[in-house]
Amino acid sequence: MNLKSSVIEIKGVGSEVAKKMSILGIETVEELIDLYPRRYDDYSEIQKISLIRPGIVTINATIKSSAGRYVKRGLHITEAVASDSTGSVRLVWFNQPYRSASLKTNEDYYISGEFGMSYQRLNILNPSVELVSNFPVNTARIVPIYRETKGLKSGQIRRALREVFPIISALPETLPKWLVEKERMLSRAEAIEQIHFPGNQQELITARRRLGFDEVFELTLAALINKLENSHGKSIIIPFEEKLAKDFVKHLPFILTDDQKRVIWQIYKDIQKQAPMNRLIEGDVGSGKTVVAVMASLMVVKKNFQVAFMAPTEILARQHADSIHALLKPLGMHEQIVLLVGGQKPAQKLEAKKRISSGDAKIIVGTHALIQNKVNMQKLGLVIIDEQHRFGVEQRKRLLAKAGHMPHVLSMTATPIPRSLALTLYGELDISVIESKPANRKDIITKIIPLVERHKIFDKLENELKSGRQAFVVCPLITITENNSIKSVEQVYDELSTGPFSHRKIGLLHGKLKSEAKDIIMQSFLNHKIDILVTTTVIEVGVDVPNATIMMIENPEKFGLAQLHQLRGRVGRSKHQSFCYLLLNDNLSPSHRLRLLERSTDGFKLAEYDLELRGPGAIYGQIQHGQLDLRVAKLSDTKLIAKARLAAQEFIDRHENLLIYQQLNERVQFNRSVTNLN
Ligand code: ADP
Ligand code: MG
Repeated sequence: MNLKSSVIEIKGVGSEVAKKMSILGIETVEELIDLYPRRYDDYSEIQKISLIRPGIVTINATIKSSAGRYVKRGLHITEAVASDSTGSVRLVWFNQPYRSASLKTNEDYYISGEFGMSYQRLNILNPSVELVSNFPVNTARIVPIYRETKGLKSGQIRRALREVFPIISALPETLPKWLVEKERMLSRAEAIEQIHFPGNQQELITARRRLGFDEVFELTLAALINKLENSHGKSIIIPFEEKLAKDFVKHLPFILTDDQKRVIWQIYKDIQKQAPMNRLIEGDVGSGKTVVAVMASLMVVKKNFQVAFMAPTEILARQHADSIHALLKPLGMHEQIVLLVGGQKPAQKLEAKKRISSGDAKIIVGTHALIQNKVNMQKLGLVIIDEQHRFGVEQRKRLLAKAGHMPHVLSMTATPIPRSLALTLYGELDISVIESKPANRKDIITKIIPLVERHKIFDKLENELKSGRQAFVVCPLITITENNSIKSVEQVYDELSTGPFSHRKIGLLHGKLKSEAKDIIMQSFLNHKIDILVTTTVIEVGVDVPNATIMMIENPEKFGLAQLHQLRGRVGRSKHQSFCYLLLNDNLSPSHRLRLLERSTDGFKLAEYDLELRGPGAIYGQIQHGQLDLRVAKLSDTKLIAKARLAAQEFIDRHENLLIYQQLNERVQFNRSVTNLN
């Protein structure tokens, strides 16, 4: 048996257990070893029988007798007596008819379970028992508890792990010797053994330290190698044209913020180099990232190269095309934009593709259709990926493969992540942060509204509409379901248009509508032909209708914190005061999450909170579908992260050959493929 062996080869793992493991994604011994405990129960303190008190106890005792019987139909009871030098105690199991036969009298056992009164007597109820002569896995120690799903019990996982102990002890070291020595860490084999079966709390801490170090080290190393490789890539040198930039800025309907200027300047410096830019702009919703991307595009177009501007939704792509059009019109460059989305008519698409391959169209705005259709972009100079976390790495790769050279890449995200996480996870990217919002903005006022106060909000809404503003109403569902405590857009649309807002123009938008229909509705909302847009989360990212000042969210408990913040970001995009109302059902009390949203409009703060609450998978999971996740390392452990990052840098500086470290190499290559933009 080896790491690649199927779990079915493990003694005691039958086809039933193997099937359950496979549901958890565990097919091989290696995958089993890689399943870390979720938590631990501490049964390590062994007590004398005379001293045990009601509660969880562990004893080391000899089984004196045991017998099982049916007390009535369907109720089987096994009773046993266990003794040590200080006394005896009764053990009781219900409905485990095999129990008695499996207990050997006059043998020493570890016995762990709950001691207390049951059936008018003091018993240890349903205890775990293990022969002292064996290495105990369920008793008399810190016992690992695994993710128990689909009927797979922790005990079964423990037993299987116990059987593969020899394989665990022989696990090869993955890190260079100098590093393990320098950091005074456990060997990998020891760490894995102790994460599953720690001898004591201290061992658990050192095991976690070693495995957490590995995670951050491997991620950082992958990022550093990607970055190094990228710096050797050849891209197009895009010169800075001062007059063009000034002309553009002169015609803007607003003044750029200092942060915007700083980031634009960083980008201009990047693209003047031969090495391809690989930059991420992190900026909260509404911080004005689009105009920054357009200013980057200007120079590329001037140099006669193309820009691919990709957005996660068709609505957003169409909106971008329109707003870029408006921004470029004063310069006479608007003819060079082309839109390419799945929902276009075949003739439109054909025309767009022609203009792209002829090089006539310079700024190509679109969605995934850009990648999926055979678009010929020979002169691709810059790729802009808006709402970066929405694109899979595979999609990015395909796009980049279209150009003969490495284009510059600018990613933008409104899911801000704290700096420590960004450096670890996006180590290969240069990061620009837009912190400030445009000066004319007021903080959005956010309120949790119980059902009973709903009419007041309707009055407020009517007032806003009267003074010329518009509103979004977001619902989790499209159609009415039996459970009418969850609102659908169809229901709310009916309620509003037949009830309090029958005199208003109301629009209905959701993902199931045809692309063209969606576009017409979005356009009507943007042009203020619609007052209230009742919609699902299709408008979650990017949509920019500055005149909208009210965001009402039905069933806010159905959405995640980051998502709520994004939805709220659809308002507060002009000089007008904006409001976000979270409409809560009466039987619910506001969660901590909703309270937090009420208190803070700072996306960075909220992200940090989300991180604490749900771990990095919450944020990074959206990006890479949980492929990359820190399972052991805590992002709050800044010391560990700093050490592991330094070590990765030292590995590079020493010109270590990664190929020598086969397993490390495998993991690093995996990480590289998940994060790499090449
Ligand atoms: P996001 O960062 O969420 O993508 P957008 O780029 O969509 O934000 O910008 C939000 C709105 O703010 C747009 O209507 C845009 O025209 C406007 N805007 C951008 N920069 C400024 C600025 N410096 N001053 C005022 N308004 C701005
Ligand atoms: Mg945006």
